[in-house]
Amino acid sequence: MKEHNNSLQLRISRELELLDSTQSARSLERSYGRYGKYCWVGSSTLLNLSGNDYLGLSEREDLRRAFLSLYPDYAVPHGSTSSRLLLGNYSLASAFEGEIAQALKQEAALLFNSGYHANTAILPALSSLEGVHILADKLVHASIIDGIRLSQASFERFRHNDFNHLERLLSRLESAKIPIVVVESLYSMDGDITNLKALVALKKRFPELILYVDEAHAIGAIGSNGYGVAEEQGVLQEIDILVGTFGKALNSMGAYVATSTLLKRFLINKARPLIFSTMLPEATIAWSRFLFNLLPSFTVERAQLRALSSWVHSGIASSEYRTCGDSYIVPLLLGSNEACYQMALRMQSAGFEVRPIRYPTVPKGEARIRLSLTASMTEKDLLPLIDLLRNR
Ligand SMILES: *Cc1c(COP(=O)(O)O)cnc(C)c1O
Repeated sequence: MKEHNNSLQLRISRELELLDSTQSARSLERSYGRYGKYCWVGSSTLLNLSGNDYLGLSEREDLRRAFLSLYPDYAVPHGSTSSRLLLGNYSLASAFEGEIAQALKQEAALLFNSGYHANTAILPALSSLEGVHILADKLVHASIIDGIRLSQASFERFRHNDFNHLERLLSRLESAKIPIVVVESLYSMDGDITNLKALVALKKRFPELILYVDEAHAIGAIGSNGYGVAEEQGVLQEIDILVGTFGKALNSMGAYVATSTLLKRFLINKARPLIFSTMLPEATIAWSRFLFNLLPSFTVERAQLRALSSWVHSGIASSEYRTCGDSYIVPLLLGSNEACYQMALRMQSAGFEVRPIRYPTVPKGEARIRLSLTASMTEKDLLPLIDLLRNR
């Protein structure tokens, strides 16, 4: 037994050494304090450009107070102690699901413990059905990849946002197959927004096509009511499976799928992460619900975020660096891993919390720093960063 342990330890050490030697090891050594748009390590305070708090809700004490005033006797449980399918089916959850469905113009909605749970629940459940074939964008999030890995379905990837490629793959498919096209509405590596309208148009040519859209980075921050890219492009009703998380712009925890009543019923029976995991606590659901129902009112925040994003995009365009995308996630393309790492160090010492994203996370020669903006940031906050790029 001991020997066995030792060889396991040896293998683990080798694996970690390999990560160290390519500077790709992750660690939890540094711990951060965080408040609103700032974070700090030790005594230095940095502007946090690595977060997902797009609307700046995390620093909104007014909202926190308004929420807590609804529970003057603290009568909202912070624990759940049961799966949804046992005793965790709170009326609060069902009411909230009704509101999500209505907002997103779908028949029904279903809560999940996180976006990761949602994607790893829905894709395997669907692919247990005969004939299902998954076609996913090359850049989809790890939770979608893991959902596909847990699936029994056949699958293919199409080149990022290349719908001609997707169309070719679709036309090659045997007629008995049911294609599920999985995309994100806003990709966090390239900061680009997906043309959902074009995908919806594909459904005319391929009537069996099921459209699965993950709005994780867009819900709250895009659309006139904050209901995401699908709202912005006027296609909410046309998306078959619309996933979003409360963990990013919504400053809470948990996720939803908005879809048909039929699929909801199927998921309640087949989605294992839903059936076999403890339900979100009522306090968390209530907070998500409180913020979700306020989304239409955050128009100023969304306008500020849009204005700041175009300001940062043009600031980078006026330097010798390149960017891409068209959103509040602004990639700064730096080429080699080394150049990216050096720039991250410079930015960090100038007071900006940024992370180098290097090969193999992104293709070789496309290492980047991702500037993730928040509505409460100002041009003044970011001018030193743009100056740093202009003056090399
Ligand atoms: C962050 C993210 C998730 C995971 O959501 P969590 O609620 O954080 O688990 C899923 N999909 C995409 C596209 C994401 O960016």
